[in-house]
Amino acid sequence: MKKIGIITSGGDSPGMNACLRAVVRTAIHYNLEVVGFYRGYEGIIDNKHCVLTTTSVSGIIQRGGTILKTARSERFRTKDGIKTAAKNLKALGIEGLVIIGGDGSFRGAIELSKEINIPIIGCAGTIDNDLVGTDFTIGYDTAINTVVEAVDKIRDTAESHDRVFVIEVMGRDAGLIALRSAIASGAEALIVPELKNDIESLLKKIKNWRSSKSSKIVIVAEGDEFGGAYKVGDLIKKHCPEFDIRVTILGHIQRGGNPTCMERVNASLVGFNSIKALLSGHKNEMMGIVDKKITYTPFEKAVKHIDKLNEDLVQMIEILSS
Ligand code: ATP
Repeated sequence: MKKIGIITSGGDSPGMNACLRAVVRTAIHYNLEVVGFYRGYEGIIDNKHCVLTTTSVSGIIQRGGTILKTARSERFRTKDGIKTAAKNLKALGIEGLVIIGGDGSFRGAIELSKEINIPIIGCAGTIDNDLVGTDFTIGYDTAINTVVEAVDKIRDTAESHDRVFVIEVMGRDAGLIALRSAIASGAEALIVPELKNDIESLLKKIKNWRSSKSSKIVIVAEGDEFGGAYKVGDLIKKHCPEFDIRVTILGHIQRGGNPTCMERVNASLVGFNSIKALLSGHKNEMMGIVDKKITYTPFEKAVKHIDKLNEDLVQMIEILSS
């Protein structure tokens, strides 16, 4: 193998740059040329690329986002788009591909591998942490730390005014950002798509809240089937009109910012090992870290939706928030 390609794809996440840096520098160490495509699959379709050198990835380990840019490519979801991408990769002599992205990006990789027979290795890069085969995805640790910092600040106001704050965090299909940040910020209630009785449980709690006039924080995952933070806020208002309720949508601040130390180390480890994986014959697998060990999970398995939360954590938050 002499020449590999790399993309960052899907939603950006802090730590993608650290991973990219590790991929490029490890590849160069093993005498591989690295071609970076801009804006994920869009860049492969449009042949927008550059050769990445040691200096191209200087000074980026601490930066959020991705210097390669990223995109959600509608064209890559079509047969024509995938065929064009495969043709361009072949013409450039790309013999292996590293994809830093989330479940959608790896679904795309499965389709691409049907059109071109080169090994593809995925580095799990998404703030959602919703991939099977890794304890942490690149971006998750930074995102939950950002949420906790924001909730701590909101708590100051909530306490000063004895308000109920309903805070919506990211997670279109998964409540993992909500779960951990709720535990770490001492939230009084958690509403996530994985828990089907969370609204009933909230209504039970509200009855007790009436007797204690103090701040309350409810964390809601954006993808919860009840309909988001405003709906939850309305529900609380209906049952407890005496409460002073505010709704905050944290939004895109959760994606940005300098990656945490843990993020940078994990992203570097995954990137470094993705090149070793390519060189040792791995293909069409996602790199992950489970119990501090590097793991390889076939894309088909990695993208299977996780619809259960860790039961211990769920039980713990129920008890600790009561
Ligand atoms: P995040 O978790 O941050 O949302 P992601 O990788 O899951 O990241 P998506 O937008 O879902 O983000 O997917 C990235 C891109 O992968 C899509 O824009 C699309 O180009 C491609 N993709 C996703 N699913 C498929 C599919 N079934 N077939 C072909 N391409 C796909």
